[in-house]
Amino acid sequence: MPKDIRALTIEELTAEILEMGFPQFRAKQIYSWVQEKCVSSFDEMTNVPEKLRTALSEKFSFYGCKINTKLVSKLDGTVKYLFELYDGEYIESVVMKYKYGYSICVSSQVGCKMGCTFCASAIGGFVRQLSAGEMLSEVFTAQRDLGIKINHLVLMGTGEPLDNFDNVMRFIELLTDEKGQNMSIRHISLSTCGIVPRIYDLADRKLGLTLSVSLHAPNNQIRSKSMPVNVKYDIEELLKACRYYENITGRRISFEYAMIRGLNDSDSAAEELASRLKGTLCHVNLIPVNNVRERNYEKSSQERQKRFAEILEKSGITATVRRTLGSDINASCGQLRASKRKTGD
Ligand code: SAH
Repeated sequence: MPKDIRALTIEELTAEILEMGFPQFRAKQIYSWVQEKCVSSFDEMTNVPEKLRTALSEKFSFYGCKINTKLVSKLDGTVKYLFELYDGEYIESVVMKYKYGYSICVSSQVGCKMGCTFCASAIGGFVRQLSAGEMLSEVFTAQRDLGIKINHLVLMGTGEPLDNFDNVMRFIELLTDEKGQNMSIRHISLSTCGIVPRIYDLADRKLGLTLSVSLHAPNNQIRSKSMPVNVKYDIEELLKACRYYENITGRRISFEYAMIRGLNDSDSAAEELASRLKGTLCHVNLIPVNNVRERNYEKSSQERQKRFAEILEKSGITATVRRTLGSDINASCGQLRASKRKTGD
C-alpha cells in the first residue's frame, strides 16, 4: 500500500523527497500544501512540477475522509459528519461553535475495544486504528467543507485514543506544527477511559494538552459494571496515575461523569466521589447520560444533577453540568455510525 502523505513529518518528507532525487525545498512546498493548505490530491499542488507530482502519486496516497452524511443542528449550528474511509469503514466527527471559535470532536479508532455499556461506540466492537493522516483529514475535511478555521480539538469521538497511542501522538504533533495548522496544544483535550500505563507515558511527554478521564462512577463496584477497563485498572490505580499526571505537567485533570438515573447519581455517590477526589487538582464535568437506542439507561433529573454538583462543590471540588449541543442531530459519539451499521447500508 502507498504511504499516507499526511502522516509524514517535515523531516520524513524531506528524506523521501531527497531520496527521490528532488531538491529539498520541494519538501517544504509539499508539506505546506498537505498540512497548511489541507489539499487532498497531488493535482492541487500547483507550484510543484508535474514530474514530481506523478512521482509522488506513485509512492504516496491521501487516505482521507469522504463526506457520506452531514447533519446540521437547527438548534445551535452543530455539524455532524459521517465520513467514509478508503476501505469503506465509517467514522464520525462533530464541529461545534463556541464563543471562542470552532471546536472539533474527532474519532481516534474505527469502533472501540473498551466495551463501556453506556456507549454507542462500543456496539459492534473494534474494527481498526485510524492513522495520523486520517485523523488530520477529519479536521481538514470539515474545515474545507465549512470554509472555517478550527482552533480547538477534543479527542472524544469514537475510540480510545490511548489505545492508538503512537498515531494519536503523531496526529497531535502534526496538527500543532507551526508550519502546518499551528493549533495550540492548550486547545487540545484528550479523553481516556483509563488506560493507566499510557497515562504515565502521556505525562512523561509533558505536553500542554488537557487530559479528560472518563470516571463515571465513585467506586470499583459501580465502575466495573459499566466499564470493563476498570477490571484491569481499578479506580485506585487510575487516580494514582492521574495524580502523577498532575504532578508532572501541573495541569488540572477533567473528570467526565455521565449521570445515569439510579446507578451513579445518589447523594452518597457524590459524597464518595468527593472524598476520593479531595486534594486532586481537578474539575468534574457532569454529563446527563445520552440515551442510546440499544441501551436502556436514563439520564438523571435536572434536580439530581444540581444536587450532585452542589455536594461536590461543598467539598471543594469544582463541577459543572455540561450543556448538550446538537441534540436534534444525534450528535453524541457513535450514534450515527451505529445506525449506519444497523441498516447495513
Ligand atoms: N474512549 C475515550 C474517548 C471517548 S470520549 C473515553 O472513554 O474517554 C467520549 C466521552 O463520552 C467519554 O467520556 C464517554 O465515557 C462518554 N460517553 C459515552 N457514551 C455516553 C453516553 N451515552 N452519555 C454520555 N456520555 C457518554
